[in-house]
Amino acid sequence: MNKLAFIDQKLDDLKKQGVYRKLPINTKACANIIEFNGKEIVNLSANNYLGLATHPLVLKAAHDAIDKYGAGAGSVRTIVGNQDLLEELEAILAKFKNEEAVTVFQSGLNCNIGVIQALTDKGDLIISDELNHASIIDGVKLSKADKAVFKHSDMSDLRKILEEKRNSYQQVLIITDGVFSMDGDLANLPEIVKLAEEFNVLTYVDDAHGSGVLGKNGRGTVDHFHLHGRVDIIVGTLSKAVGAIGGYVCSKQNVKEWLLHRARPLLFSTALPPAAVGAAIQSIKLLLESDNLTKKLWSNAQYFKQGMKNLGFDIGHSETPITPVMIGDEALTMAFSKALLEEGVFVSGIVFPTVPKGKGRLRVMISASHTLVDLAYALDKFHKVGLRLGVIEN
Ligand SMILES: *Cc1c(COP(=O)(O)O)cnc(C)c1O
Repeated sequence: MNKLAFIDQKLDDLKKQGVYRKLPINTKACANIIEFNGKEIVNLSANNYLGLATHPLVLKAAHDAIDKYGAGAGSVRTIVGNQDLLEELEAILAKFKNEEAVTVFQSGLNCNIGVIQALTDKGDLIISDELNHASIIDGVKLSKADKAVFKHSDMSDLRKILEEKRNSYQQVLIITDGVFSMDGDLANLPEIVKLAEEFNVLTYVDDAHGSGVLGKNGRGTVDHFHLHGRVDIIVGTLSKAVGAIGGYVCSKQNVKEWLLHRARPLLFSTALPPAAVGAAIQSIKLLLESDNLTKKLWSNAQYFKQGMKNLGFDIGHSETPITPVMIGDEALTMAFSKALLEEGVFVSGIVFPTVPKGKGRLRVMISASHTLVDLAYALDKFHKVGLRLGVIEN
């Protein structure tokens, strides 16, 4: 008897819906050009916003860290995995983000998995934007607090929930993405912070896609809105614009101390490998020194978005270099992505359950590492495939 036949059935369902896929295998670094099956492909799907994943100084720092500290940390942070390199990373992140204290985790996902449950308890309430990232949703599930969801960026809905529920709870925590990763729009942080102050509740911003992208030298969404000191928890990732891997939490010092005692990923999962820590330190140094890469990212994004608009594509209402190309139908979205790949351009198709049914899209991630030649090539292929599949006219 095949006990796992139900999995075959699920996979067959995916095939019927046209959303079954095999993972492409990249045989090069994750840069502007990648390589599948020996063929060069323009990469429009990485989160490597600034090209730092292959920056020579960042690579050197990673090598140096390995030489001094080894390949692995060998322990969780709370036992003997707390190398001085990690402390150095936290210090430079605190300086970069202009925040009192920073706690580094193994990834952005780990921050959300660890911090939300460490901060909240029975008798508390978490209020979350309906489009928050999956790792926030999972992090919220791990908390013993009650949960409420407000309509995406709908400040009157958020106010209504606060008016109805604030007084029935001890701590209340509002959680939002800084930049929403599927649409590229920004949270209404000024209004969220005002409401939080009016109702005396805590704020938590996951700025995975804002760091390195928005604000002065890429300091993030909170800096972009000039809200320093008014957001209680800011989560960032070292895996996207910073080009390595890891996550960090900006907070007051007492929150940091509590996390070091109670955030489960710090207690039960090994600390970041030294190479990642060394690389991240160097990347942050580069961001502190110059905003050249951030500027290049935005000018590339502007060039590409204008090109797509001129071609007649619906690119949603993004306010960042994330450029969703709205297709709608799930199977058509995946067919478009496949046809682009045949033309030498990789753009991932994003469909249910990552986005709602019928809201399939191709999500283009622009990077400072793209040349104008890469982007013009991609625009040309979008034009060709868009016409062929009837997504645009002429
Ligand atoms: C990508 C992302 C994460 C996860 O970050 P990793 O460092 O890759 O684990 C968390 N939150 C948001 C909003 C993200 O976009």
